[in-house]
Amino acid sequence: MNFELTEEQKIIQDMAAKFAKRELEPVAAELDQTKNRDILKKNLKKLAELGFMGLSVDPDYGGTGAGAVVFSLVMTELGRACASTTVTTSVTNMVAEVIQAVGTEELKQKYIPPLCSGEYAAGSFGLTETCAGSDPAAMRTSAVADGNDYLLNGHKIFISSAEYAGVFVVWAVTDKDAAKGRGISAFLVEPVFPGFKVGKDEKKLGQHGSCTNELIFEDCRVPRENILGKLNDGFRIAVAELAGGRIGVGSMALGIGLAAMDFATNYAKERIQFDAPIARQQAIQWMLADNYTRLEAARLLLLRAAFKKDQQQPFSREASMAKLFATEAANKACYDAMQILGGYGYTQDFPIERFYRDVRVTSIYEGTSEIQRLIIARDLLK
Ligand SMILES: Cc1cc2nc3c(=O)[nH]c(=O)nc-3n(C[C@H](O)[C@H](O)[C@H](O)COP(=O)(O)OP(=O)(O)OC[C@H]3O[C@@H](n4cnc5c(N)ncnc54)[C@H](O)[C@@H]3O)c2cc1C
Repeated sequence: MNFELTEEQKIIQDMAAKFAKRELEPVAAELDQTKNRDILKKNLKKLAELGFMGLSVDPDYGGTGAGAVVFSLVMTELGRACASTTVTTSVTNMVAEVIQAVGTEELKQKYIPPLCSGEYAAGSFGLTETCAGSDPAAMRTSAVADGNDYLLNGHKIFISSAEYAGVFVVWAVTDKDAAKGRGISAFLVEPVFPGFKVGKDEKKLGQHGSCTNELIFEDCRVPRENILGKLNDGFRIAVAELAGGRIGVGSMALGIGLAAMDFATNYAKERIQFDAPIARQQAIQWMLADNYTRLEAARLLLLRAAFKKDQQQPFSREASMAKLFATEAANKACYDAMQILGGYGYTQDFPIERFYRDVRVTSIYEGTSEIQRLIIARDLLK
């Protein structure tokens, strides 16, 4: 075994860490409070220039080809500074990757380079519906062939980045008589396609800098050649892509948890109560020790899942274990960091309250913790 990163991995990790500190951290609180999308778009453009929008994408399509381990390292470093920017970057990487994995050569040439170069601010992943959250195969959005096109009808909800995405992967039922999950196809939809509308932006607890919208399809005309992958194979494509996305969300959560703990550690060394820094109290020391131990375990789980992905080995169970553990460890780290700061942690004078809000959704989206347990158990019992 070798726990050392390669020179290339270390260089990119360092580049991400410096970028996050220099460019993302100074604007993260303002982005959270003002929801000014121009700040987000500027961040995304710079990230694209660094090559962070196609980390696992082949250089032939404008990607970096650095792989899943680097993707995990980068999401962690960015996550330390700004969750809204990081989740948008993670999803955009997922969109570029799924097109690369199953798209035709024409679709790859057309849609991947603008995602990687920043010409599109982001990519968007449209799976969830009101009736289809943890159970996406229950979706009702339909796609019916009409000449050279498909006509999409229905609604999606909770779709990240919809207001500024240049391309959407949208799942719809193409064979309503097929067994559950067997009659769904994936389509690439551009925001200018007739019959497509982006609906309201949800008012959320955290990650205020990124938008989360409804998508509305009313006889939305999508060219037949924009079917992504094989007809009626969309559910399998979504499941496969979500496994990779879980490495992104887990890695981002790890970054948030580490940022919270690093802040709390420094604070504990300086905050005097009972004539001594609170860091001298064993109660505080144990919180630091337990949280850093959990976060380190999370890092190893994430890197193992990413390593297996890079080796083209099955990694779905490992990705679910990593996401489950990392997001729950990060939630606990943010909870304890606030405890260490006491009342100050609850105010907007310090970044802990933002971390605390931003981290919460990581154990909900891209599959809740319960769904990760279900995936892990199914794999163990098969
Ligand atoms: C900020 C945000 C951004 C998002 N971005 C996107 C996006 O870009 N694209 C996209 O497609 N979706 C997105 N989502 C949707 C997200 O993936 C879903 O919210 C999530 O999968 C859970 O679905 P749900 O909200 O319908 O909860 P439900 O499925 O209704 O679950 C409710 C509760 O029941 C539990 N539960 C459900 N089924 C089971 C079961 N079989 N066993 C045990 N427990 C179960 C769940 O774990 C949860 O605790 C986003 C959501 C949010 C909040």
